[in-house]
Amino acid sequence: MAPRIGVLALQGDFEVHASVLEELGAEPRVVRVPEDLEGLDGIVIPGGESTTMSMGIEREGLAEPLRQLVEAGTPTLGTCAGLIVLDRDHLGLLDVRAERNAFGRQVRSFESDVELRGLDGGTLRAVFIRAPWVEERGEEVEVLAEVDGHPVAVRQGNVMAVAFHPELTDDRRLHRWLVERAGLGRNGGTPA
Ligand code: GLN
Repeated sequence: MAPRIGVLALQGDFEVHASVLEELGAEPRVVRVPEDLEGLDGIVIPGGESTTMSMGIEREGLAEPLRQLVEAGTPTLGTCAGLIVLDRDHLGLLDVRAERNAFGRQVRSFESDVELRGLDGGTLRAVFIRAPWVEERGEEVEVLAEVDGHPVAVRQGNVMAVAFHPELTDDRRLHRWLVERAGLGRNGGTPA
């Protein structure tokens, strides 16, 4: 059965994520209210504007059900603002402190080939748009990629978060990671 993957759709570029997930054989569902989270096998917290997104999460009463879903081990992919929303100062689902707009005014947007540990197939073209980086992290957080010595891709168990926008290139490896893991959960397996 196709895994059902939610895309938080309060603000930001959620539609592109939904179509990538569909292309990979998953069943995407836009998430705007707590009921939309029921029965999900995976979730994407997209890029956008983290303050607006956090306010929307509070307004809609999504914080607690989102925490429950992710803490139950549901595979989760946060991208750009999604990384910020997942951090210690926001939902607290990833033991990191994200630094917003970390690359500074001069380099608000850029592309870079990053080496992502644990991902076969060579470097990944990463699109950074007013991106954060990980400023502090706990021991359980694994750094998968860095730019200029700053972590831009991290993983803590079922939660993967990247500072860039994987939905804006043709490289589907990060979404595939999510869909495969969500599929294991859906079909009764135990994701590694
Ligand atoms: N700069 C945005 C923020 O701080 C994140 C940018 C993005 O998601 N592309 O919320």
